[in-house]
Amino acid sequence: MNQNHVYDMIIVGGGPGGYTAALYAARAGLDTVILEKLSAGGQMALTNKIDNYPGFEDGIDGFTLAENMQKQAERFGAKTEYAEVTRMDLNASPKVVETSEGQFLGRTLVLATGANPRELGVAKEAELVGRGVAYCAACDGMFYRGKTVVVVGGGNSAAADALLLSRIAKKVIMVHRRDTLRATKIYHEPLMKAENVELRWNSTVEELIHGERLTGVRLRNSVTGEESVVECDGVFVSVGRKPATELVQGQLELDRSGYVIAGESTATNIGGVYAVGDVRTKVLRQVVTAVADGAMAVHAAEEYLAESGQ
Ligand code: NAP
Repeated sequence: MNQNHVYDMIIVGGGPGGYTAALYAARAGLDTVILEKLSAGGQMALTNKIDNYPGFEDGIDGFTLAENMQKQAERFGAKTEYAEVTRMDLNASPKVVETSEGQFLGRTLVLATGANPRELGVAKEAELVGRGVAYCAACDGMFYRGKTVVVVGGGNSAAADALLLSRIAKKVIMVHRRDTLRATKIYHEPLMKAENVELRWNSTVEELIHGERLTGVRLRNSVTGEESVVECDGVFVSVGRKPATELVQGQLELDRSGYVIAGESTATNIGGVYAVGDVRTKVLRQVVTAVADGAMAVHAAEEYLAESGQ
C-alpha cells in the first residue's frame, strides 16, 4: 500500500451511510476508500429483518443488505480496506487517518462510524457479557431458546428485541424505567398480545445476580420503592446507543450526547469533513436516513473540492 497516496475521499465506517457515500463518490469518479474495522453493515448487519427499508417487499436481513451495498459501491471502483482507525487529523491538508494497517490521506473525509450499544451501568455488567448479559437479540437470542430473559429499555430496539425473543425464549420480561413505551405504536399491540411477554413498568435494574453465569436481576420500582428479584437466564440491554466519536473529540463539534453537530448537508465545522448516519445529530436514526446522508455528503464534498480547487 502506498501510504503517500491521496484519496479524494476517505470514508470511515462501512455501514449503510458509509457505503452509500462510497457508491455516490465512486460513481462521481472520486478516488474513494472505505475503512472498516470488521465487516460491512455496522449495526444494520446485526438486524435479522429490516421491514422499513423500501424496495424489499418481504423485508431483508441486515447482513445481506450490507453485503449488497458493499458490492454495489465496489462495482463502481470504491475500495474497502479492513483496518482499525487509531487517530485522525482532520485539520491537516490532506486529512490524515492512522490505522492498524498504516496511514491514509484524503482531500475529504466522511465520518460514518455510527453508534454502539449503551451499557446499563450496573456492577459486573462487563464481566457477565457472554455469560448472561447481551446487547444484541438478533445475534445472541438463539442461546436462550426455551429460557427466561429480561429485556431492559422501552424504545424501538427494546420492543423489537422483546418481540424477537418472544419467539425463541419461554418467557420475556420487559423492564422499562417509565410507565409508557418510547417505542412507536406499531410495536405496542404485538407486545401486549404476546402471551409470554410481561411488562414491568417504572422499574430499573439495580443488581445483576450471578454465580458463574447470570441467574437473575434485582429490580427497583421507582414509584413504590419496592425491590424484587426476577430469576432469569439472560438480560438483553437495549437502552439506546452512544455515538462512536471518541477519535474526533476536540476536532469536530459534538452535542451534549457526543453526536457530531451536522445538519442535512452533513457538513461539520471542518471544511471537507462530513458526518453521516447515526453519528450525526438528527431526529430519526434509520437505515433510510443514513443512506440519504451518504448521498448528501458526496454532493457537499464535490462542491467543496470544486470550490477549494483540489
Ligand atoms: P432509544 O429510542 O433512545 O430508546 C432507549 C430506551 O432505553 C428508552 O426507552 C430509554 O428510556 C431507555 N433507557 C436509556 N437509558 C437507560 C438506563 N440507563 N436504564 C434504563 N433504561 C434506559 O434507543 P433505541 O431503541 O436503541 O433506538 C435508537 C434509534 O434507532 C431510535 O431512533 C429508534 O427509533 C431507531 N430504531 C428504529 C427501529 C425501527 O423503526 N424498527 C428499530 C430499532 C431502532 P426513556 O424512554 O425513559 O428515555
